[in-house]
This record gives sequence, C-alpha cells and structure tokens, in this order.
Amino acid sequence: MNRLPNRAELMDRKEPDGSLPRKIGRWYRTHRRRLPWRETKDPYKIWVSEVMLQQTTVNAVIPYYVRWLELFPDIQALARAPLRRVLKAWEGLGYYQRARNLHQAARTICRKHGGSIPAEFEEFIALPGVGPYIAAAVLSLAFDKPYPVLDANVRRVGMRLYGFQGKANARADAVLLARIRGIFPVENGADFNQALMELGALICRPKNPGCLLCPVQSFCRAYQSGEQEVIPAPKSRSFQQIETVVGIISDQGKYLIQQRPAQGLLAGLWEFPGGKREKGETLREALRREIKEELGVEVRRERLLLKLRHAYTRFQVELFVFECELDRSPLPRSPNRRWVGLRALKRYPFPSGSAQIVRFLEDRDSEKQKRVSVGP
Ligand code: SF4
Repeated sequence: MNRLPNRAELMDRKEPDGSLPRKIGRWYRTHRRRLPWRETKDPYKIWVSEVMLQQTTVNAVIPYYVRWLELFPDIQALARAPLRRVLKAWEGLGYYQRARNLHQAARTICRKHGGSIPAEFEEFIALPGVGPYIAAAVLSLAFDKPYPVLDANVRRVGMRLYGFQGKANARADAVLLARIRGIFPVENGADFNQALMELGALICRPKNPGCLLCPVQSFCRAYQSGEQEVIPAPKSRSFQQIETVVGIISDQGKYLIQQRPAQGLLAGLWEFPGGKREKGETLREALRREIKEELGVEVRRERLLLKLRHAYTRFQVELFVFECELDRSPLPRSPNRRWVGLRALKRYPFPSGSAQIVRFLEDRDSEKQKRVSVGP
C-alpha cells in the first residue's frame, strides 16, 4: 500500500541544496517537455492522460488525449456517453479494458461521489481500473498529495540509482518505494514525481542512458559501478506468433460484422468474422471452418484481398483477409451481427487489425469513385 508519510516524517526531512530532490527538481524545471496534461491541475484530465500513457508512448497518446477531451470534456460527459462511443475514441490505443474501466469509473463517480473525483487514496483506488500507480499519480499531480509514483521510468531510474541487481519485481518495487518515500520532498512532491518520470524518459533511457548529462549522476550506484546498461535485468518476453483468416462478406454495399463477447480479450469490440488457422489447414480451409463455426453458413469464391501484420498483448498476428460470398444457406439472425455500409463502419470500434481492413475498404472505394468520375 502506498502509505502517506506522516507530518513528523515530512517535517524532519532536511533538503540541503545539493540533495537529490533539489538537483532533480532544478533539472526538471529547465528541461521538462511541455505536454498538454502538464498544463492542468484538473484531476479528470490528469487521470485520462495517466491511463492512456500506460503501455503507450507520449507521442502516440497526444492526439488521442486532445480528441478525447473534445468528445468528453469532463467526468459527466464521459459518464453520459454510450460505451460504443468511448471504445471508438480509444480505437488504436489497445488494451481496451482501460477505456471500459475509465467509463465505468466515471459512472461510479457521478452516482456515488456527486461527480467529484475523490481526493482520498482509499476512495479513489476503489474505483474500477485504479491501481496503486494511477491512484498515486492522480492524487500527487492533481491534489499535491505526497504519494511517490512508480512507473516503468521511475523504476528504472530508482533501480540504477540504488544499484538494485536483477529483474524488476514486486519485492524490489516495495523496497524502492520505501527508499523514494524516504527522500520525498516536503514541498513540490508533484514536481518531484514528474521529474523522476521525465529523467527516465529523456536521460536514464533503457538503452544508452545519457549519464554524462544526468543531474543525479553523483548519487548513482549503477553509474559508479559501470552497470547502468545491465540494470534492471531484461525481462524475458516471448511473443506468440499466430496466423488468422478473416472473411469480408458483403451484400448490396453492406459488410457483415459481429461483436465480440462482453468479457475477455477485446471485449465488446466489433470485427469481421474469422479466426485462427489450425495446424495442417490451408488458409481457405481455415476460413471456411471459422465462418461455419461462427456464422453457421458456408462461403465460396474466396479471393485473397490483403495480408496484414499487427501485434496485441503478447500476440504477433499475420492476418489473411479474404473477400468471399455466402453460399445459399440463409444467415441465422443474431443480435451481435450486423450488415453495415462503408460510411457507418466508421462509427464502430474495431481492434487494430479490423480497423486496418476498414481503412483498406475505404481507400478501395474512393479509388473506384475516382475511376467512375474520370470515366474510361
Ligand atoms: S547516472 Fe546514468 S544510470 Fe544513473 S540515474 Fe543518471 S542516467 Fe541513470
């Protein structure tokens, strides 16, 4: 648990001019990047940015953040929005559970807290999707509460500063948090947190850290022992390679899409029918089997339309997209299945592979339109 230092602990703390918090604070004031979420103390806006920044880079987040605040400028607007609109605004950021949790939390805040984001740790962390990191970050950055944050950047900086060997893990995190709590400044704790995160992002990078420019080099055990490149020890990450087939089935200008189940991976998003190729199957056999299993119908005249690669969570996916036709059998009705025109497809939230297919279909359509308008 991220314990708040008590008043006596804070008052006892001395911060001489050459202390680590002072040095890193001065560096931060001069070198910090101007980022949209750093220009505000609004807890909702800071919260949105912190959720988006988990697993996603700053440059990728900025356009999403700006658009999100245009669509949902405050917690009430987010709570009122239908889930489909929320997921659509998140499309492409991945880890869609983050968007679902934010939406649910906004509804909880409007229902239980009168629309105000709770400023107390226990109340805030009880909201859907809020873990110790998000709670500490929002309460520190928006409400100036003295909670240290521990994200991937701070973890790396801290492990190097204190010379922690081995891989990052929960036990090392607990020790690190205790150490950071021990030097947490009496004033400007929010800036101290931001400074540690910024140092990790700009100077103390995973590879080739810029130690010669580092304001806390004289405190750094890893630098002194020359181990800055091997701390923390790399995680063993293995990606699973999979091949999937997808069927683009159209009828009178409308495309068949279906919604994924409300629970599990990519829950509630829409997609074109298809699935994983099994061992020993040809691509066409896999397509026919998947469509039969999912829709209960046969398809024919499969033509390979395009091949895509994308990655999500721990999967690297090669996606084979076929255009095909329904065989004669009628398509059984289902509430999770729709025939949707090309323009209306834009309103549905898709995982990144299906979103790329939609863009391909739009490009192909506009090429056709151009050819028609130019004529033979
Ligand atoms: S001296 Fe190097 S390794 Fe140590 S905190 Fe600074 S950038 Fe990181």
